[in-house]
Amino acid sequence: MKKPRLVMIGNGMAGVRTLEELLKLSGDLYDITVFGAEPHPNYNRILLSPVLAGEQSFDDIVLNDLGWYLDNNIQLLLNRRVVKIDRARRLVIADDGTQAHYDRLLIATGSTPFIPPIPGHSLDGVIGYRDIADTRTMIHTAKTHRHAVVIGGGLLGLEAANGLKLRGMDVTVVHIGKWLLERQLDMTAGLLLQNALESRGLNFRLNEQTQALLGDDQGRVKAVQFANGEQVAADLVVMAAGVRPTTELAEQAGLQCQRGILVNDTLQTYDPRIYAIGECASHRGIAYGLVAPLFEQAKVCANHLAQLGFARYKGSVTSTKLKVTGIDLFSAGDFMGGEGTESLTLRDPFSGIYKKLVIRNDVLVGACLYGDTVDGGWYMQLIREGRSIAEIRDHLMFGQDWPVAIGEAA
Ligand SMILES: Cc1cc2nc3c(=O)[nH]c(=O)nc-3n(C[C@H](O)[C@H](O)[C@H](O)COP(=O)(O)OP(=O)(O)OC[C@H]3O[C@@H](n4cnc5c(N)ncnc54)[C@H](O)[C@@H]3O)c2cc1C
Repeated sequence: MKKPRLVMIGNGMAGVRTLEELLKLSGDLYDITVFGAEPHPNYNRILLSPVLAGEQSFDDIVLNDLGWYLDNNIQLLLNRRVVKIDRARRLVIADDGTQAHYDRLLIATGSTPFIPPIPGHSLDGVIGYRDIADTRTMIHTAKTHRHAVVIGGGLLGLEAANGLKLRGMDVTVVHIGKWLLERQLDMTAGLLLQNALESRGLNFRLNEQTQALLGDDQGRVKAVQFANGEQVAADLVVMAAGVRPTTELAEQAGLQCQRGILVNDTLQTYDPRIYAIGECASHRGIAYGLVAPLFEQAKVCANHLAQLGFARYKGSVTSTKLKVTGIDLFSAGDFMGGEGTESLTLRDPFSGIYKKLVIRNDVLVGACLYGDTVDGGWYMQLIREGRSIAEIRDHLMFGQDWPVAIGEAA
């Protein structure tokens, strides 16, 4: 008997994880075809930063090599970007003309770096930071040029800046906010982070807005100009000013999108034959940009594709980590606090440790840790569970192993 056809658009982390989960549940249910715009099998995008920093190689970060697709009878069509979904004929069409019919379609197209439309944004040497090609461009440019500017002081921007510095470039990070990672850290932790990165040789321009990128006679970027007219030399500009869910295909196909392809709790779009997962999807108003929630989505989506249908995705609480070796930070939940909350803080300037826990009605709702993050996982669990911390409040700050530590000391 002919098997139903499952087609997946996007050979990235969330999509392939869904296939892995599906194969575990029901190995032989579908004929599977995967279109990938990149020329690589599925790799760990998160680890592009250690690759840029010279700590890992491209080979180290492959998650599913070509053999995996073969072993699982998955037809993998690399270097092929799907350009059209024809819902009436249940067909997808790629840029080289390849067509594939589907009974179920999984859209897993991820996100696209947002390139602010400032003058000069299309000069040579201006790039986003998303994939192996971008990482290779940075590694190559560091061998031939001197000055790099990273626009955006978020996680991605700082990891790019750290990597470029380790590759020998002079790096300036331009950030519109008052402190670094202002969506992940409070001001105190943000300043500690800035000090640590400055001591590694990174330069920062905070509270600063880029007005234009200036080019040379060959059309390559040579400087960044700010609103006050000042300029910083730049042979490479990395735009790390956020991402946008890649939804064009879905929109053209008439699927409902609103800052992401709208999905229900089983990751189905408005067309029940079509699922969307990962950074391209918007679930209950949120398009997640971290893998942990996407992997939770993958489990549920696979369950539904396997025709079990008992799992529901209800959203995720996320936490933050920065992958700069030697710098430990963690934050989760409502770490800024505010009306109706109390904050417990601990600060040890000598060892560079700062911790802030935010409590509302005896429930831990947020945590921001700098310098000592060993208890991040435990705090995250308490935030997720939402149980009362009244009984452990006195020693909450000292972490999960507190009584053990005292016992050992005695
Ligand atoms: C440098 C870097 C560091 C990161 N660090 C962390 C971290 O520390 N922790 C964390 O949780 N997350 C991190 N992330 C985010 C994480 O990588 C993403 O959340 C995750 O990869 C999203 O998975 P996805 O499958 O939705 O998208 P992707 O992994 O981006 O996969 C989407 C794929 O679809 C392809 N595609 C798009 N359109 C088409 C089309 N029309 N046809 C065919 N293929 C198409 C794309 O080329 C891409 O390969 C990082 C991201 C980057 C770039």
